[in-house]
Amino acid sequence: MAPGVHVRRHEELKLNCGLVVGSERSLVIDTRSYRSLGQDLLESVREITGTELVVVNTHAHYDHCFGNVAFRDSQIYAHSGAADDLRRTGEHQRRQVVEHLRSTDREGLADEVEDTEIVLPFYLVEEDTVLDLGDRSVELLFAGRGHTDHDLSVAVPDVGVVFAGDLVEEGADPAMEDAYPLEWAPTLSALLDKPAAGLADTWVPGHGRVVDRSFVESQAGQLAAMAERFAEVLGTGIAGVDSLANAGRGLGLTEDTLRLAAVRTLELRH
Ligand SMILES: [Zn+2]
Repeated sequence: MAPGVHVRRHEELKLNCGLVVGSERSLVIDTRSYRSLGQDLLESVREITGTELVVVNTHAHYDHCFGNVAFRDSQIYAHSGAADDLRRTGEHQRRQVVEHLRSTDREGLADEVEDTEIVLPFYLVEEDTVLDLGDRSVELLFAGRGHTDHDLSVAVPDVGVVFAGDLVEEGADPAMEDAYPLEWAPTLSALLDKPAAGLADTWVPGHGRVVDRSFVESQAGQLAAMAERFAEVLGTGIAGVDSLANAGRGLGLTEDTLRLAAVRTLELRH
């Protein structure tokens, strides 16, 4: 995407991983879903750079961090909430993935996920953190709750690139299972306003095609409109999943997304 800044796009889940090459160290962003995929990523990184590798997990969903085992000799960064979340939900995530793979006749992959050791990130941050890669630096950014309560983005200010993790999603709706639907838009706005991301016009979503700043602004707008309509319904005091989901129609979000967002919104009020 820019000198020393790479995105690796994968067929599975349209997942994007990143690489920022520095003179002393290079940063790998997200590690894929299980050991051999992480290993494959590591090998492709090694075709580009022989420097020491540092890793960041944008969040604790399996497709972004179960490949950590292939990078276990590296410093692995994440938000402290990601480590907590992975400790709490890692085995549950594994069971869900394995079940899904077995039910779709992918026994070999299911076995692999079962055998993949979950390696927790252990360099934990809670606020914006600069990582020195030698001749350039990158910034780990935390702008608030959105896709999860611990999403980190990675800004590469010298070339105007941001790896946004699943805070930005292209080709599918923002994923709501663990989301903070009413906080997501303000978080995106805060991220867009951060100095390290402010001039960036190349945004790498967790899944899908690389997008520009205006795409991110319009996704923030869509989420803000949904939140505003949800808030109106909540204000009536008789909000349910159906009434919330209905209120969100017409914004370009699928029925499934709206219902999940509604369920999460109601859960979070209790
Ligand atoms: Zn995710």
